[in-house]
Amino acid sequence: MKVINPATEEVIADLHEDSASTVHQKLTALQHGQKKWHAVPLNERVAVIQKFAAILKENIDALSKVLTSEVGKPLQQSANEVNGACARISWLTNNAEKYLADEWMTREDGLGEKIVYEPLGVVCNISAWNYPYLVGVNVFVPALLAGNSVLYKPSEHSSLTGLEIEKALKKAGVPDDVFQVAIGGGEVGKALLELPFDGYFFTGSYKTGQYIYEKVAPKMVPCQLELGGKDPLYVADDVVDIKGIAAGTADGAFYNNGQSCCSVERIYVHEKVYDAYVHEFVKEVKGYKMARPDEEGVYIGPLTRKPQLEFVAAQVKDAVAKGAKILTGGKAPEHRGYYYEPTVLVDVNHEMSVMKEESFGPVIGIMKVKDDAEAIKLMQDCDYGLTAAVYTASQERAEKILSKINSGTGYWNCCDRVSAPLPWSGRKHSGFGATLSHVGLRAFTHPKAYHLRGFKP
Ligand code: NAD
Repeated sequence: MKVINPATEEVIADLHEDSASTVHQKLTALQHGQKKWHAVPLNERVAVIQKFAAILKENIDALSKVLTSEVGKPLQQSANEVNGACARISWLTNNAEKYLADEWMTREDGLGEKIVYEPLGVVCNISAWNYPYLVGVNVFVPALLAGNSVLYKPSEHSSLTGLEIEKALKKAGVPDDVFQVAIGGGEVGKALLELPFDGYFFTGSYKTGQYIYEKVAPKMVPCQLELGGKDPLYVADDVVDIKGIAAGTADGAFYNNGQSCCSVERIYVHEKVYDAYVHEFVKEVKGYKMARPDEEGVYIGPLTRKPQLEFVAAQVKDAVAKGAKILTGGKAPEHRGYYYEPTVLVDVNHEMSVMKEESFGPVIGIMKVKDDAEAIKLMQDCDYGLTAAVYTASQERAEKILSKINSGTGYWNCCDRVSAPLPWSGRKHSGFGATLSHVGLRAFTHPKAYHLRGFKP
């Protein structure tokens, strides 16, 4: 399998792809390893995972270079990602014992009742390329902490990073038969769906997620899906710092080239502040430096995948054909690499794909609304339900609006943000189940109820 650098379009590695028979062998090994790993006391598993984070930190420069070489994100953003993953690991390891240890619910003379969080067994994790450290850590870290073994399939676009993750976990003390990586694309993913794993945890697109859900259903094992988003953001008329808000929300739309599941994907602005907001927003976006991801000060690098260039260009073309105006960007530069200029569209509406379908690229539509009711209606007019953001001076107003949006996350005066103590979850086409928080720590367990008659406290 060839790995291509999206900044140069050169082949940078040629990897040996897994097959149906090698993934089967890996599953057999993981089935043996899981029992031994579960017998390791929780505090020792925690120590191993903490060591894993320390190894990531020690090697951050080298790891950032590998990540940038295969996904094209600016080097600084790669380093931010590794640091962010370490912060998440820190929360997960600090809280593992609190949420995974046996939980006594009743301790009376004659009756004891407790919950034991048993691991699922061998977990299959099919993952995405846009934040391989972050979305990977969300799954394999709590899964390992809970006593599972893991088959991790990184995306074919972030396989080198997947192999680095494996190396670091093994160096930290995770046994060979407790964590295995499967290299390959959709065909290898399909082969994993033919095997009897004890749980499937997927991060990726709605289309693949739906396919996986259908294939896993007859197995009657847990299946959790973290899928795409078309995350809306509303700027109300009572905001004060329009310049600051424009800069912060533009970052929410264009960080990692818009290739985040929680990127701001569409913006609604109250008519009273619309002109000022759009002016500041466009000024901010025009200031972004687009260049090779290893250049100093670069903010926009290449997109990771070539087909996404055509998809983004088609969305812009469709919008313009239906009456949208391009205020900046709107084309791909002539030089090599999968680059597309950061693009701001106005005069958009919900007949346009750019306001309804996930762009996953550097393009944003901004639409004028007359009041909160119209903003809510438009924010809700979407098949996805990952996050929604409201900017207003009033917390009460924000919470009232957010309570009406069917999404897993609501943001007041912030956006494009994930926090380890809070559950990360989607609704509708954005998936279901949660990672992170105590909910995510327990997602890799079966709670077993013990009713103990004759118990002595
Ligand atoms: P994708 O669906 O193309 O691929 C995801 C993974 O599935 C890859 O490892 C791929 O090889 C594998 N795969 C592809 N076809 C398969 C099949 N038929 N059977 C089994 N496995 C298969 O998604 P992607 O391009 O890697 O990721 C981008 C998408 O992921 C976006 O929609 C983004 O919003 C979403 N995402 C969501 C979250 C979240 O937390 N909700 C986080 C990151 C990315």
